[in-house]
Amino acid sequence: RQAAYAALREVEPISKNGERVTIMINAGLRDDVPMLAATGADGIGLFRTEFQFLVSAALPQRERQTKLYRDVMEAAGDKPVVFRTIDIGGDKSLPYLRTDDDGQDDENPAMGWRALRLALEREGLMKAQARSLLEASAGRTLNVMFPMVSEVWEFDAAKAVFEGQLKFLKERRKMLPERIRYGAMLEVPALAEMLDVLAPKLSFLSIGTNDLTQFLFAADRANPKLAERYDWLSPAIMRFLRRVMRQLDGHQIDITVCGEMGGRRLEALALIGLGIRRLSITPASVGPIKEMVRQIDTREIASAMDRWLNEPVGDLRGAITSWAEERGL
Ligand code: PEP
Ligand code: MG
Repeated sequence: RQAAYAALREVEPISKNGERVTIMINAGLRDDVPMLAATGADGIGLFRTEFQFLVSAALPQRERQTKLYRDVMEAAGDKPVVFRTIDIGGDKSLPYLRTDDDGQDDENPAMGWRALRLALEREGLMKAQARSLLEASAGRTLNVMFPMVSEVWEFDAAKAVFEGQLKFLKERRKMLPERIRYGAMLEVPALAEMLDVLAPKLSFLSIGTNDLTQFLFAADRANPKLAERYDWLSPAIMRFLRRVMRQLDGHQIDITVCGEMGGRRLEALALIGLGIRRLSITPASVGPIKEMVRQIDTREIASAMDRWLNEPVGDLRGAITSWAEERGL
């Protein structure tokens, strides 16, 4: 596998018509960072900070968090890292942190008291993470994004926690980040209706298609009985994403897809057809997706996608498969 990574490490993901696609990796541990060099990816598009909480027997203290974030940025060198604030609660519960304050477990954990919903109420937790990320980013750019934003005020409130900690550090004359870029994850369909209000506040938006798909289809992403049923390449998802892209047109923000689908060739092809130019994927997929990008003309897949979505073919996966086969992809 290492050899397969190495072969494509230096290869640039540029399409036949000269469009550069940014390909980043998803990570969660310090030990994942060497994958950046191994794959030649452009950065870490999603660093899942909850991993350190999930593998720890006790709540990681601020110093430990700061060290992890600093180590990750140092190991990544010039390449950007996007830190996602903790996405715990619901099914990812922690033994040392009660997430059922009222003694009741969530009946629908995925739609329960998790991620930003929990973090905004457990303010100590959020403040500690904000301070750690700010301190770790002294003299650098901090890219931070919030998971499961459902309403615009939640983004504002999360950003305010960071700004509060920034003020605290400023007053103590601590070294500050050179720049802070705030982003939101689009995982809850309701947020897609508010992009005109949200987008001007953002530096970037990251589309989490794992959760987005489960909420669009009301289909538990962890239920194996449903795994085959709701296809990422369904016209419903693709039309939804096309609408999102159109609404964001003209806003100067980076748009990334960081769900697992971006690591699959046909899915990534379809996303590129919708105008997505940034993917954050599992490291093993970086090489194959680079190869695919180099073989396509983005204008061709864009017009094919428009055609298929305007008069939806029943079997979009079939249509994309044949399109790819005809071109030897
Ligand atoms: C997603 O929901 O698509 C995502 C990237 O986040 P996670 O898989 O960690 O929920
Ligand atoms: Mg998610």
